[in-house]
Amino acid sequence: MSSLRAAADDLHDDLVRLRRDLHREPELGLELPRTQEKVLAALDGLPLETTTGTSLSSVTAVLRGSAPGPVVLLRGDMDALPLTERTGLPYASEVAGLMHACGHDLHTAMLVGAARLLAGTEFAGSVVFMFQPGEEGQAGARHMIDEGVLDAAGERPVAAYALHVTSALLPGGVFVTRRGPLMSAADVVQVTVTGAGGHGSQPHLAKDPIPVGSAIVTALQTFATRAFDAFDPVVITVGSFNAGTAANIIPPEARLGLTIRSFSPEARARATDGVRELATGIAGAHGLTASVDHEMGYPVTVNDPSEAELAAATVGDLYGPDRFVWAPDPMTTAEDFSYILNDVPGAFVFLGACPPGRDPRTAPFNHAPDAVFDDAVLADGATLLAELALRRIAAGG
Ligand SMILES: [Zn+2]
Repeated sequence: MSSLRAAADDLHDDLVRLRRDLHREPELGLELPRTQEKVLAALDGLPLETTTGTSLSSVTAVLRGSAPGPVVLLRGDMDALPLTERTGLPYASEVAGLMHACGHDLHTAMLVGAARLLAGTEFAGSVVFMFQPGEEGQAGARHMIDEGVLDAAGERPVAAYALHVTSALLPGGVFVTRRGPLMSAADVVQVTVTGAGGHGSQPHLAKDPIPVGSAIVTALQTFATRAFDAFDPVVITVGSFNAGTAANIIPPEARLGLTIRSFSPEARARATDGVRELATGIAGAHGLTASVDHEMGYPVTVNDPSEAELAAATVGDLYGPDRFVWAPDPMTTAEDFSYILNDVPGAFVFLGACPPGRDPRTAPFNHAPDAVFDDAVLADGATLLAELALRRIAAGG
């Protein structure tokens, strides 16, 4: 057994206590004051340079090795979700309407564990521990980048790693990742086609937005199938189309709401531009106008292939090859660690935390009120993060 694994076993009870304490008192969004306090208390006494965020309740802690060397960033997100817990666990949420239903309480505890493990280890370099609020839609990672987390150690990290637990899909203790795209980007677009209303009997005196909006819908489906590589596809869904009030009135405008899912930055950019060009071009060709509003979601989460390989090899060495699986396809969920991976090569790794006695194929998944995440994975998750940092630092800048 590696020395880190043995040390992690000694930490296990502390990490379980911390995780359950966080679980009882979930907080939402960018402001997690109680969570921040608990993290600072758990890190107290370690030789860390610790700073807290100004626009959010983040904690950034830098651990310097015994000599200079490469910087590695490890991240754990800390926020909960607005739902009422129905697990019946003894340490279930005590805050009405809030629950750690995505396992971020485990991520926080594992990152504390990694800090404690690395503080007792010799290495030449630095490790940045990024305790992040606001993953569930508030782009907390983006805020922490704006506040300088990537420069916290004085120079840019050479690599960044994060773990995410799942309450289902994977057997407990199994690690999964992928080279390249791991999760999609999902953007929302509102298109408003503006013409001129009129009497249904005299369309030549109006500018009818309904056939023009319909032409945009069909053009988007042609665009999705003809403008993208079959192996780098996009999914464009027009989920709402609203226009008009009566059968004999030509309405002045039509509104379309659509989502674009993509798996590479290139396809995402092409889809973003293409939707705008098609909508405005088709409307213009018919003498109408279209306005296009993009609400950009999180970017595509793209693993660096060699960092994903390092994660796979490290899991194999620590726990054996049976504990690692390559994901065949990306997932259609999104994750704001993607902002970090846009700037720093790295890997995002899933860790199965389905409790014993539940079938991962049917267990309630993350974000469900009865989703349960098994504490037993805490030491292994902390060990993997610490070991990845050590190996990447040893590999050099
Ligand atoms: Zn999550």
